[in-house]
Order: sequence, then structure tokens, then C-alpha cells
Amino acid sequence: MRKWLTRFAPAPTGYLHLGHVLNAVRVWEEARSHGGRVLLRIEDHDRERCRPEYETALLDDLDWLGFVPDLYPTNTFRDGRCESRQSDRGDIYSTLAERLRGQELLYGCACSRKEIVESRSPGVLGSGGPYPGTCRDLGLPLTNDVAWRVRLPSTSVTFVDRWCGPQTQVPAEQCGDLLIRDRRGNWTYQFVATVDDHLQGITDVIRGEDLLASTGRQILLGQLLGRPTPATFAHHALIMKSPTQKLSKSDHDTGVRDLRAAGWTREQVLTAAETGRHRQSSMT
Ligand code: GLU
Repeated sequence: MRKWLTRFAPAPTGYLHLGHVLNAVRVWEEARSHGGRVLLRIEDHDRERCRPEYETALLDDLDWLGFVPDLYPTNTFRDGRCESRQSDRGDIYSTLAERLRGQELLYGCACSRKEIVESRSPGVLGSGGPYPGTCRDLGLPLTNDVAWRVRLPSTSVTFVDRWCGPQTQVPAEQCGDLLIRDRRGNWTYQFVATVDDHLQGITDVIRGEDLLASTGRQILLGQLLGRPTPATFAHHALIMKSPTQKLSKSDHDTGVRDLRAAGWTREQVLTAAETGRHRQSSMT
């Protein structure tokens, strides 16, 4: 039987909220029912948005909620450097980026966000369209002051999500050549999550359906990085604040921290996450 390994991978850009709790419930539940294990990974690749105090709070909240990781338990992060914290994995990301460069898949991109939006075809509004490939053939050197992109083939990727069913995605049409490092030197989520899922041997990814659209590009990038078989994916519904708004870390009334301070018990928080019942006023 294959070794079943999933991960809980929060970004310490704010306090843990009920959306994370729901994800943790699903992750630990699935791991237990498959006789598998859970790895904790701290996704602090974005140096501007992540803060150590959020990481500390997140570890405390996980302990309080009783989610115990099988790999990299919370104390391994409290002890200092940890190989499952992305800001401690810079050398690994550089090595893998170097591998892509060796395959002539990597190029420098000097476009600003504004230029990318403006260069999109008329009718494509906002930041939703693919990168148009402006710098693809300019041969810009891969220095620290340009962004780094991976040339994506225009392949379509098909996979069967365990909960959302069969999916077909064409990453080149969704996002264009994939940004792996921004102009300030931050590795991007798409790159580091793909590298880590590959190198940490994650067999099953369980996460919210806001990341379903990222899955095709992560499978494709994983192939380019030499991952022989992709992980299996299962995306679950999110807790919504309103029909169109998902929860965000700035939601104080859904932060585990604030609920704890307001006297909620662990069981109340878990129930609220599982039922999507998240307004404090609904607890009587
Ligand atoms: N770090 C991401 C987040 O906090 C999760 C990424 C993933 O599960 O792939 O939303």
C-alpha cells in the first residue's frame, strides 16, 4: 500500500480563522481514515506579508485545538530553524530554480503589474488574464531585480479531484508563463507549494476549493521539476461570509484567537467551523 501523507500548510499572514480550522478538520479526518500522516508546513514565503508573531499564534492555536502533526509537530518550529518552514528552505528553492534554468525553462521578466494589465488584450479586465509573454524571448538575465518566470507548454492538464470530480485545465491560458519569484525576491506560492509537495513526498493534497484552479499549474510545474506522479487532490467547500465573500484573516469575529478570548471552547470552535456557523451572535 502506498504511504499516505497529507499536509496542513498555513501562511502566517494573519491569525488562524474558521476557514483554516475547517481545512484542518478535513486534513486530519482524511489522514486518520486512510491510515495516513499529516505534515505541518509553515508557508511564510512572502517576506512582506508574513510575521513571526502570527506563526507563534498559529502554533498555539493548533495546540489548543488538538491538531497534532505527525511530521514537524509544533515544537519543531518553536525550536528555531525548521526544514518545514519555507523561509528556511531558500537553498532548496534556489537549487530547483537552477534546475529549471538548466532546462532553459526559466527567464527574467521586467514587466510591472501595471504593464501586464495594460498589455492584455482589450476586453480582458483586471488582473485575471494570463501573462502575455512580453519578456519571454528577450533573454533578460536572471538577476535579483527582475521577476523569474517558467515557460509553460500549452498542454492541458486533466485530473480527477476526489471531491470535485474530473477537471481539465490549461495553465498557459489561465496564467501564462508561471511566476516563480517576484521582483522583490519572494518565491511565489505556486512554486514553493509545488516544490515542497514534491520533495516532502505529499501523496494527497486536501484544501479549500479556492485553490482548485491552481491545481493544473502545480501538476504541470511538478512534472517539469521531475515529479514522476502527481499527488491526488481533494478540494472542499469554503466557509463563506456572504454568498460571494470567503473568510479572510482580517475577519476578527472568525479568528480563533478572538473566539478563544471571548470564552469559546475548543468543541464550540470545531463545531462552528464544521457547520459554517461563524457569527459570534449565533452562539447562545
Ligand atoms: N498556504 C495556503 C493558505 O494558507 C495553503 C496552500 C495549499 O494548501 O496549497 O491558504
